[in-house]
Amino acid sequence: MENFNAANNIQDLQYFGEFGGVNPSISDSSTYTFLSAKTMFDTFEGNTDGCYLYSRHSSPSNLYLSEALAKMEGTESANVTASGMGAITSVLMQLCKSGDHIVSSRTIYGGTYAFMKNFLPDYQIETSFVDITNLEKVENAINKNTKIIYCESVSNPLLEVADLRELVKIAKKHNLKLIVDNTFSPLSISPNVLGADLTIHSLTKFINGSSDAIGGVICGNTDFINDLKNVNNGACMLLGPTMDSLRASSILKNLRTLHIRMIKHSENAMFLAKKFEEDGLIVKYPGLKSHKQHELFKSMMNAEYGFGGLLTLDVETVEKANELMELMQKENLGYLAVSLGFYKTLFSCSGSSTSSEIPEGEQKEMGLSQGLIRMSIGLDHDIKRTYEKMKRCMEQVGVL
Ligand code: PLP
Repeated sequence: MENFNAANNIQDLQYFGEFGGVNPSISDSSTYTFLSAKTMFDTFEGNTDGCYLYSRHSSPSNLYLSEALAKMEGTESANVTASGMGAITSVLMQLCKSGDHIVSSRTIYGGTYAFMKNFLPDYQIETSFVDITNLEKVENAINKNTKIIYCESVSNPLLEVADLRELVKIAKKHNLKLIVDNTFSPLSISPNVLGADLTIHSLTKFINGSSDAIGGVICGNTDFINDLKNVNNGACMLLGPTMDSLRASSILKNLRTLHIRMIKHSENAMFLAKKFEEDGLIVKYPGLKSHKQHELFKSMMNAEYGFGGLLTLDVETVEKANELMELMQKENLGYLAVSLGFYKTLFSCSGSSTSSEIPEGEQKEMGLSQGLIRMSIGLDHDIKRTYEKMKRCMEQVGVL
């Protein structure tokens, strides 16, 4: 951990384009020629390094981006996918067979929750959803069929922080795989370095950073990544969630500036969270001392990147939340939109949008209020100016 520096690892990757370009060439082909039929056969058998077969399996552009993301997470290998859900579903389908069981955090992205709750049971794969911050509950939920512990390092949307070191211990003790979705905290937290087996990202968010692409990645050891790409039984090869080469090349360029962006996202979010808290608003941000897992986040983080760009504001009713968000959009303080990690601030009311797959009763139980606004704080140059404008909006709708 001490010598691990994700940004340096990415920076040290040197790729040249085919004609000496400063960016690697984009592989604009779906299929590849072989000088001998024997090499083609060997490639199908997975015995030839450096040969490409067919771009659903892998392509030079996808391998460049995958390698960079493996460097970022400190894993041996990685495989990019066409979306974050493409990464999550492929991993779960690869690791779980009929009769298997998953222990998952109950506060996770709504799409992941829906997949585990509504889709996997048709394949006789059951999930127990637990409070991931209660390690006893996590361990008690494990049964003889359990294969996986699944969580988000910082959860969507409640920003609960998982104790990855302790979860690693539980996973090891019961011979399970710990899978961590690290979408909310790239660079800040490095799950695999802390002992997790697989780290997943929706690249759609901070890593790409410009809200113009959908993408995902699975980072893990070489054997598992090769299993995913196996032509006979690999979920990424057979289900086909393959990223397009053009997209891989554009996300790789954006990845090169992630370290600078994360510092600014975190700095701006910290400023606003502190101010909102001083104003007496119900605000959650892992960087605030009042956050339940503030010390835990500190003990796991790569400090220079801060506590991330997401905060939540609870204005108690959905009507107030909608009024405030509409006004803030009108004042050009950000967009009323789902997603996160954009250079402009994005806000949405989680209960009725990205977590709407979770039934209202369960939302209540986990502490997800209908008036909870999730804010992904942008790269605003003058955050003090932004705060003054936001404060005026809050006064106008009667939240302050
Ligand atoms: N994981 C988290 C934490 C997310 O917030 C999302 C999307 O919002 C996903 C995964 C799914 O990613 P994608 O939309 O790229 O499929």
